[in-house]
Amino acid sequence: MITFEKAYEIVMNSSFPTGTEKISYTASLNRILAADIISDVDMPPFNKATVDGFACKRTDLGKELEIIETVQAGKSPEKIPGILQCARIMTGAPVPSGSDCIFMVEDSEILPSGKVRFTGSYRKDNISLKGEDVKKGDIVLESGKKIQPQDIAVMATVGSTEVDVFCKPLIGVISSGDELVEPEELPGDSQIRNSNACQLIAQVERSGASGKYYGIARDDEEDTLRIVSRAIKECEIVIITGGVSAGDFDFVPSVLEEAGVKILFTRIAVQPGKPTTFGVHKKALVFGLPGNPVSSFIQFEMLVRPLICRMMGHNWQPVTFQLPMKESFTRLSAERMAWLPVKITDKGFVSLIEFHGSAHISSLPEADGVISVPVNIKTINKNQMVTVIRI
Ligand code: AMP
Ligand code: MG
Repeated sequence: MITFEKAYEIVMNSSFPTGTEKISYTASLNRILAADIISDVDMPPFNKATVDGFACKRTDLGKELEIIETVQAGKSPEKIPGILQCARIMTGAPVPSGSDCIFMVEDSEILPSGKVRFTGSYRKDNISLKGEDVKKGDIVLESGKKIQPQDIAVMATVGSTEVDVFCKPLIGVISSGDELVEPEELPGDSQIRNSNACQLIAQVERSGASGKYYGIARDDEEDTLRIVSRAIKECEIVIITGGVSAGDFDFVPSVLEEAGVKILFTRIAVQPGKPTTFGVHKKALVFGLPGNPVSSFIQFEMLVRPLICRMMGHNWQPVTFQLPMKESFTRLSAERMAWLPVKITDKGFVSLIEFHGSAHISSLPEADGVISVPVNIKTINKNQMVTVIRI
């Protein structure tokens, strides 16, 4: 049995890059940028009015000013206002040269003579200067970033309509166990529904990779080997759940070896998820995750998700919070690191949720996150600060 830290290191060191591809910026949401985005323009591209108003010289504020033209957004000024002159100007329009301030329509009065006067008190010039947000040649988005809607707006602004992103790895998911039926079916006596496959495919997609489901392998070496071999041929990562414990029909590790996988570990000192198995094949990385759905969920989040992110060039870290415990917690044995599902209360305390063990799938939807209890630690005290990992 190895520590979680060692298992994490082995998994991360096995990662290989997925390559890159060019796609349209409009299709890039949640993908990982593979090259910096560089601006081909200054932003704003000209000194720009930030309000609707009148452009003039600051020294003329309060005086009666002649309006010499109207500048609308999308048009260039044709005249240069002189002393005691101004131009009516709209938000987003270029400021006429020689003008160093714009007073707002709301702070102005049109006089019977047709002239205009500033009636407010001066606070700011209401001009956004050329290049003050971004300069031509600036890096506006860095490689390795997960692309969000606001990044797509930046790409549009700087004209990056084709972007380099890392290719999504394909993750094959296999369930195993004679007791499993698919969710559409009503389980017979001694059967349960397969909840791991859909959960894992959703976790894969949330991680930004693509998932492919290969069905249920029966507790039969030949059937398992056939499905595993096909998945290894087609995918960058293969996850098989079930069949990794110590039961009479738990032969996933031996089937993986038969398929040409070099097993790097079969036990981690964690709870839940001890029988987590990992191996490498020249075509794919392979995980054997415990069949219990909470174990497979947690092991995916702790080991597989960071690996997927590393392969896509994304330096992902889970979101964490430091918060105090609402109540104390004690466990009988501290040989393994433990993850416990928790809720964050209205008052900002961490509260354990009822958790009967790694088959208790209905406990997870309630959880805001998990906390980890290190090896050799049996007790967490009330009010002790703990790190909540968002799940
Ligand atoms: P195993 O790892 O095969 O020993 O399975 C451990 C437990 O997880 C058993 O109670 C299985 O019935 C259950 N289990 C295995 N695979 C799944 C699955 N795909 N969905 C839900 N439960 C499962
Ligand atoms: Mg089984």
